[in-house]
Amino acid sequence: MIFMDITRATEAGIYAAARETARALKEGKVAVFPTETVYGIGCLMSDTKAAERIYGIKGRQHSKPLPVMVDCVASVEKAAFPVPGLEALEGVFMPGPLTVVLKKKDRVPPVISGGLDTVAVRIPDHPFLLAVLRELGEPIAATSANPSGLPAPASFDMLDGAIKDAADLAVDMGPCRVGAPSAIADLTGPEVRILREGGITAEELGKWLKKEIQ
Ligand code: AMP
Ligand code: MG
Repeated sequence: MIFMDITRATEAGIYAAARETARALKEGKVAVFPTETVYGIGCLMSDTKAAERIYGIKGRQHSKPLPVMVDCVASVEKAAFPVPGLEALEGVFMPGPLTVVLKKKDRVPPVISGGLDTVAVRIPDHPFLLAVLRELGEPIAATSANPSGLPAPASFDMLDGAIKDAADLAVDMGPCRVGAPSAIADLTGPEVRILREGGITAEELGKWLKKEIQ
């Protein structure tokens, strides 16, 4: 396992680590990395073999799909069909601790979507991870880096040792600013539906998306 400590890195150091992480992901590696919510474990969205490894490492059931991450609202379409008004969320909730569920594109493999016709998409508000995503130019499939059923790690020190060891690459950038999982909102219906609470209400989202609330 390659370990990179960038807790005290300069901006240039962060970008160098991001480029190395992007290169590793392109080679099919599985990485553990910081986000602003919790530490994540991820791979390229298109890499079904690496995604299978993530389910195995976490002990996660295949019926529970993996969310994906992109670098900006315009990139959402690399994984999903954007809903009208989604661009209004740019700079408000995205990037940020909000995951939106949308109809998926065919290029999202069934192992990522759990066989559903939807995919959960988030734009992380984190300089290292955004640099990785921009370098890659394609989405990452990433979920919280905890054994399934256990709490998500809010700092590198809270990471489960077995998860760290099972990954090919682990990046330490200290504690996560938010420290809690993102809110999840289903935008596929006529009304915004909150699937996981996280400080963002259906009312607020509905207002930006001009959708009804539930
Ligand atoms: P985490 O595993 O904590 O990173 O959170 C990801 C959450 O998003 C899990 O609860 C997933 O089941 C959920 N999720 C991922 N994809 C979808 C989807 N297509 N529809 C609804 N929830 C999803
Ligand atoms: Mg989780």
